[in-house]
Amino acid sequence: MTSITRRAALAMGAASIPLAAGLSPAAAQATGPAFHRVPIGGLEAFVVTDGIAVRPDATQGFITNATPAQVSAAMQAAGLQGPALNNPFNVTVVKTPRGLVMLDVGRGIQGSQLIANMRAAGLDPAQVVLIVHTHFHGDHIGGLTDANGQAAFPNAPVMVPEREWAFWNDAGEESRAAPGRRPGFAMVRQKFAPYEGRVTTFRPGAEVAPGITALGTEGHSPGHNSFLVADGNAQLLVIGDVVNAPFFFMTNPEWVPIFDMDPPVAIEARKRLLDRAATDRLQVVGYHFPMPATGRVERAGTGYRLVPSNA
Ligand SMILES: [Zn+2]
Repeated sequence: MTSITRRAALAMGAASIPLAAGLSPAAAQATGPAFHRVPIGGLEAFVVTDGIAVRPDATQGFITNATPAQVSAAMQAAGLQGPALNNPFNVTVVKTPRGLVMLDVGRGIQGSQLIANMRAAGLDPAQVVLIVHTHFHGDHIGGLTDANGQAAFPNAPVMVPEREWAFWNDAGEESRAAPGRRPGFAMVRQKFAPYEGRVTTFRPGAEVAPGITALGTEGHSPGHNSFLVADGNAQLLVIGDVVNAPFFFMTNPEWVPIFDMDPPVAIEARKRLLDRAATDRLQVVGYHFPMPATGRVERAGTGYRLVPSNA
């Protein structure tokens, strides 16, 4: 199949050849910069992209409670052609006096750009002293292991939300899970296996590292947490997956992406976090925002909007 062009395949009657499943050069260009530096008082954070995946048609099956016409209109309003949508993966790395703290670790698949882009930002993966996770979906924990299944960060302990850890290690939850979600449990076991003895759990409100505090934002997953990075009055809110693409889910906080595991709870967390970010004029960074993936949140209409930082 690989030698057949898309046009030829269509002519042959194959109506649905997925567009670029991973990265295409044109799409990679559209992601913007490889990293973006964010000063936070005396601390420094870097938003480092792991690249993008292309969703061939965002109007179908991505948002569970919006019509294709509504999704199309939201994309047009954002200046996107549609229906294809770039889904970026952006990891926040905090430079602390004792070393690098990573908030999630990217996909860890062929085509992942995280390690190369960290190096481009002057961040040496060997200097990672701590990994902290928002949640356990594959695009956030995949990078724990390298191509050989070994620990990609052999010197780093890993901190995980207590409820997230309990859920994905619960055989009962695994047996009750919908077939589509069941492989996630085996993946969690596989990704964390090389870190055995180095994983500790935290609860919402915990200071996981000096200046980095966990905020419980469950709903996207059972134990999802966001992180507030602070030095003095300077703050950065790392929201993880509470808000996916801002032009969908800031504008319409009640829209539900297919990946939200408990939609009512996720909507509540989304509204609560956006309200706080807008009220406190917090700078936020989103794992699935287009690069530079950071900016401030303003109220707009019945929802919110992202005012991106200058890249
Ligand atoms: Zn994600």
